[in-house]
Amino acid sequence: MEHPENDKQYSGLTVNSGVAQPPSVNPYAVRRRRKPLPTPGELVEGILRGDVTMLSRAVTLVESLNPDHQAIAQEVIEKCLPHSGRSRRIGITGVPGAGKSTSIDVFGLHVLRGGGKLAVLAIDPSSERTKGSILGDKTRMEKLAVHPDAFIRPSPSAGSLGGVARKTRETIILCEAAGFNNIFVETVGVGQSETAVHSMVDFFLLIQLAGTGDELQGIKRGIMEMADGIVINKADGDNIPRAQLAQAQFRNALHLFPPTASGWVPEVLTYSGYYEIGIPEVWDMIDRYFAFAHRNGYFEKRRLEQSRYWMYETINETLRTKFYNDPDVHDLLVDNERRVLDNRLSSFVAARNVLEFYFNKEK
Ligand code: GDP
Repeated sequence: MEHPENDKQYSGLTVNSGVAQPPSVNPYAVRRRRKPLPTPGELVEGILRGDVTMLSRAVTLVESLNPDHQAIAQEVIEKCLPHSGRSRRIGITGVPGAGKSTSIDVFGLHVLRGGGKLAVLAIDPSSERTKGSILGDKTRMEKLAVHPDAFIRPSPSAGSLGGVARKTRETIILCEAAGFNNIFVETVGVGQSETAVHSMVDFFLLIQLAGTGDELQGIKRGIMEMADGIVINKADGDNIPRAQLAQAQFRNALHLFPPTASGWVPEVLTYSGYYEIGIPEVWDMIDRYFAFAHRNGYFEKRRLEQSRYWMYETINETLRTKFYNDPDVHDLLVDNERRVLDNRLSSFVAARNVLEFYFNKEK
């Protein structure tokens, strides 16, 4: 380095060249560079090749809230759509402890013995609160987790139930394009999420338990009405007579329900997931259903109805998000809400105030 102040004319001022200082950043700490995002074309090509890494990366983008990721995801979904649809989509629900993960493990292996591939997805409305999904977790399905033809993905965690469900539906499309011809969608049988799952599967299986004394209580009627098959798990050991009793009770209860839209009469079977008893019988029932629904055209009809449902769901969700994320709307909502709570304004007038403001602003 040149130091003009070292010139003879400034003899009183000399600057030593000094010792090179070590860099302030540890040179051994290699800065981790983010993997560059694959392009939509690369993702689609990978998915169609059945590359599970590319499938996972695409699903991550589907689940992301980042608008750039969403844009890529939507392009990938659109390109995968023509390659989707050729699978059996089966919804599986049951209260916690009913034996969903144990059963999915053995049902999954049973299906895979017949060839093909299986994707296990989940919709878990509680995951937003617990910051992690309990459903679709690999550790709960030990055998499937190490099976080369199985793909397990936990529930997306961000957003409303509608949003989470839509992401799962989009993930189904990607999985099908990647050659997964069996899709299981798992959910906890306790609330709203069944409706969401029902609206994206061809067959809805309800796992029940016997031996609680009041089998038919606490089961939401709506869930039973949605079921295409009811299976009573843990029919093993001492529990067999109770499982059979529950089977009879469920069969009787189903008689009281109106006929299903498909014309299919839901069947009630007993089995044991843990001891692997009665698994082929459960699967025979599902095979019979698919044969029935293909024959009478209901399979196609249900899928078209689901497409319509998701069209409106997407519109509703988009409108709602846009509306509530508008900062001006937010301020106006706070103000109107306060006036409603102070009894100074009726709820209808308050709602109209905010909606009118929003739609006039949009013009
Ligand atoms: P999930 O919460 O619905 O996923 O239920 P799990 O699959 O985790 O099962 C809950 C508990 O029931 C576990 O302790 C299982 O070992 C047990 N279990 C599951 N299936 C059976 C079965 O067929 N028979 C018996 N006896 N126990 C079972």
